[in-house]
Amino acid sequence: MSKEEMIWDLSQLVESTEPAFIQKTLDSMMNEIKKIREQYRGKIESLDAKGVLYLLELRDALRLRFEGVVNYCFLMYAANSTDDVAKQLNEAARRAMMNVNQAIAFVDLELGKLLAAKPALVKDAVLSEYRHYLERLVRRVPHMLSETEEQLVIVKDKNGINAWEQLQSDWLSTRMFQIEVDGETKTLSYGAIIGFYQSPNRDLRKRAYQTVYEGLGKDDIVWASAVRAVCEDHTRMCQMRKWPTPMTQSLIDNDVDEQAINSLMKTIEKNAGIYQRYLRLKAKLMNLPKLANYDLVAPLPKAPSATYSWTDSRREVTAAYQEFDEQFGSWIDEMYTRRHLDGEIRKGKTSGAFCSSWLAGKSAYILQSFNGRIMDVYTQAHELGHAIHDYLLSRTQKPSNCEVGSCAAETGSIFGELLLTERLLKSSKTNEEKQAILAIILDEFGMAAFQVSSRVFLEKKIYDSIKEGKFLDGEAIAKLWVEARTKLCGDAVDWLDCMKWEWTKTPHYYMANYRFYNYPYVFAQLYVYALYRLYKEEGKSFTPKLKTLLSAGSSKSPRELATELGYDIASEEFWQKAMKQAEEFLNMLEATFSG
Ligand SMILES: [Zn+2]
Repeated sequence: MSKEEMIWDLSQLVESTEPAFIQKTLDSMMNEIKKIREQYRGKIESLDAKGVLYLLELRDALRLRFEGVVNYCFLMYAANSTDDVAKQLNEAARRAMMNVNQAIAFVDLELGKLLAAKPALVKDAVLSEYRHYLERLVRRVPHMLSETEEQLVIVKDKNGINAWEQLQSDWLSTRMFQIEVDGETKTLSYGAIIGFYQSPNRDLRKRAYQTVYEGLGKDDIVWASAVRAVCEDHTRMCQMRKWPTPMTQSLIDNDVDEQAINSLMKTIEKNAGIYQRYLRLKAKLMNLPKLANYDLVAPLPKAPSATYSWTDSRREVTAAYQEFDEQFGSWIDEMYTRRHLDGEIRKGKTSGAFCSSWLAGKSAYILQSFNGRIMDVYTQAHELGHAIHDYLLSRTQKPSNCEVGSCAAETGSIFGELLLTERLLKSSKTNEEKQAILAIILDEFGMAAFQVSSRVFLEKKIYDSIKEGKFLDGEAIAKLWVEARTKLCGDAVDWLDCMKWEWTKTPHYYMANYRFYNYPYVFAQLYVYALYRLYKEEGKSFTPKLKTLLSAGSSKSPRELATELGYDIASEEFWQKAMKQAEEFLNMLEATFSG
């Protein structure tokens, strides 16, 4: 295997890789945006349907024209942040994008006003391709304030909720924790000590959690003040912006409705037993009478140490997609052949993994650090699922319709993980192999569906308590958290007492103007499990449905899309399909103990 195979070829993104050429292209992007601004600023409210179409197509065309150059700069830096040219180009692209976004922000604002005055435009046949994009703008209009008020909000947020958010993040990242490792006392930051959560050494894991949360609990005044300020501010803004519930803003952002989310969360609550059954099985896999909180994300003691070469991984992942659909298989193959994946481990490379779409090239680029573990093969399958989404989107949609919200953005990727699971299970030879595979996906399902749901329940409780006029100090929030956690885990987990402070570190509770950011993870996970279940039930006739769904991008809401395919995501029946699938994996895992 040549090493080159694992290094991506970014040169396809640009006409020339000369830094001077790149810089010049970034400058010309800014000039083009300036032209649009001069031509349209303050004039959008007088446009007719054709005029709106022309403007939106112009903006989309510019995005496609400069996408390659901007991606080139960002991706080059992600692959090696120690490279001087990459540093310089990344900075240039970052600055250019900030300026562009600022300069073009008036378009959506003015369009919103135009549509409020002339709502018929949304349904105008001329604008049919942009219909849902415009509908989403319209949905925001009733909640916008006057220009002066909006300016005041920005000023108040800067030293208000934004400052609280910053304080929480700064406070957390500057805490230091002392822990003994192999007879040596180490003083570690939060980011460093949480690395021990996945240690095979159980005692070390326990001490890591204990040290962190006993430490964080001492500052409960800071965390509780921040949560209170951010949430109470949101409550006031709901009144001012006429959002009927604290969740409305997030529902609009995620292009979903309350009915669907309520059914989703009810399904989670009703099926907590499935999760508890898994937790008890996991205890058995770890040879423990019961799981403690510090075992939840721990590795299995008997997991096989099989390693995969890049070639093995490519073969397995391509075949998994190929078995689902020929075209998917050939696109995946193209990703490898054209070297759109960067798997090499190198200094200065961004940690984690991501897929960056390249709409103009009707393709995508993927970054990961490939260690040859089974988890790396899963990551590859996941990111390639995002790439498949991009292949479909870029062939059917305008760029404005490629902004898939977080509820549906993981559809291709998690579906791909399930396809890989199917393939790996088929070829696994021992019970230990099967257990390792099933534990990977059930761990992920348990985390995304159930653990994250307890955060949704906590957030809801916080707003209910504020509404009832209760004062939320640290102990009060901790009590709500323990209740939310118990609702789903029951008595299947032994929690260290200090784990009542677990909410203190979760950034989602503190994010200014970004409320209810947890349920999209739950949605995404169950949505894909339900779709996968339908695939199992319907067989090959399901394949074109998944393609239609992915190809639609953000041109329709997830609910509308599902309805067209004959599924009702506002019903609990739909979400229950997901639970059926999870239960099937659970049954398979259970069978490995008797068989
Ligand atoms: Zn993803």
